[in-house]
Amino acid sequence: MENFISPYDATVIQKLEAEDAILIGKTNMDEFAMGSSNENSYFGPTKNPYDLERVSGGSSGGSCVAVATDMSNAGIGSDTGGSIRQPASFCNVVGMKPTYGRVSRFGLIAFASSFDQIGPISKTVADAALLLEVISGHDERDSTSVPLPVPEFSKSFNRDVKGLKIGLPKEYFAEGLDEGIRRQLERTADVLRDGGVTIVEVSMPHTDYAIASYYILATAEASSNLARYDGARYGFRARGAKDLEEMYVSTRSQGFGEEVKRRIMLGTYVLSAGYYKAFYRKAQKVQTLITQDFRHAFEQCDCLLAPTSPTPAFKIGEKVDDPLAMYLSDIYTVSVNLAGLPAISIPCGNDSGKLPIGAQIIGKHFDEESVLRVANFVETNLT
Ligand code: GLN
Repeated sequence: MENFISPYDATVIQKLEAEDAILIGKTNMDEFAMGSSNENSYFGPTKNPYDLERVSGGSSGGSCVAVATDMSNAGIGSDTGGSIRQPASFCNVVGMKPTYGRVSRFGLIAFASSFDQIGPISKTVADAALLLEVISGHDERDSTSVPLPVPEFSKSFNRDVKGLKIGLPKEYFAEGLDEGIRRQLERTADVLRDGGVTIVEVSMPHTDYAIASYYILATAEASSNLARYDGARYGFRARGAKDLEEMYVSTRSQGFGEEVKRRIMLGTYVLSAGYYKAFYRKAQKVQTLITQDFRHAFEQCDCLLAPTSPTPAFKIGEKVDDPLAMYLSDIYTVSVNLAGLPAISIPCGNDSGKLPIGAQIIGKHFDEESVLRVANFVETNLT
C-alpha cells in the first residue's frame, strides 16, 4: 500500500477535521496492524525514544513515538488486541481503546472486524477525553457503531473518584509479570486508596486461554479481510504474470510480509472444514467465558486496574524470530478486545532501568467516563 492515497476520508478523519484538527502525516506501524513491536513494518521498526535499542511497541508504535517525541500533540491508532495500549505503555504516553461500537470503523483498514476499534493516543488524559469525544458516535456507514449519545468526556474526566470500587484481577498479577511493573501497579493502587477508592481482588479464571482464543479468532477474520488484496483493485501488483491466477498468487506471495502470510495461513486453517469446530468454534466459546469473567468481576467493582504489558519495551530482535513469545506479550491486552470493553493505558513511572511502564484501567461497556476519571486521578496524583 506504499504511496496509496485513499479515495475518501474515514469517518474519524472527517470528524477530526470538522473540529479543525491539523493532520500532519501517516505514522509507521506493523504491516496490517499485525504485531507487538513495529518490527513487522515494511519500512523497518520505529525505535523506542527511551532506548534506541528497544522496540516502540506495536502495532501503533509510530503514532506513540510521534506523540512521545513532540512531533505531534496527539495521534490515532487502531486497537484489535492491544495496538494502542501496548505501544503507549512502552513510550510513556496515554492510549485508549474505546468500547467496541463507540467509534465508527468506516474507512479503517480491517484486520479483525469484530475487535478493531480506533482510539486516541495523547500526552494527557484530558486530551484523550477530548479526542474520544470528537471521534465517537453513531455512523450509518458502520452498522456496528452504536446509536448512543456521546457523553461529554472532556467535561467529566476530572470528576472525583471517591467511592469508586476498583478490582485487581489476581491472574493479571501472577507469574511472568516484571517486578518493577508489579511495584508501580501496587503504588498506583495505594494512590487510589488514598483518594477514597475501595480496592478489591477479583478473579478472571479464563485468562490463560485469552491468547489462544484471540490468535485463532483474529487470524480467522484477517484471512477473510485480506482476501481483497489480490492485485486487481489497489495496492501492489506483481509483474510478469501469464494469467490471472498467477497474478493473484505472485501478488500475494511477494506483497505480504512474513507475519501477515503466517496469519493468513493460520486463519485459513482454523476456518477450514474439519478444523472449524476444533479451533474456531472452540475459540468463540472461550471468548464467551472470558466475557463472563469480566461480567462477574464488574459485579464487584466499577473498573479494573491491571498492567498493560508483562514487561517494559523489549530489545529489537529479541522476539521477532519467535512468534509465540511475541504473541504472549499481549496477555494483558487481548481479553479486553475479546469482550469489547473500553480500556486505557497511562504512564505509571519507570522500572529500575528507567524504561516507561503503563497501567491499564478497564471499564464496563460504554463506561469510558469512569475509565477516564480513574486515569486522570492517577495521572494527577501518582508521583
Ligand atoms: N499485537 C496484537 C497482534 O499482533 C494486536 C495488534 C492490534 O491490536 N492491531 O495481533
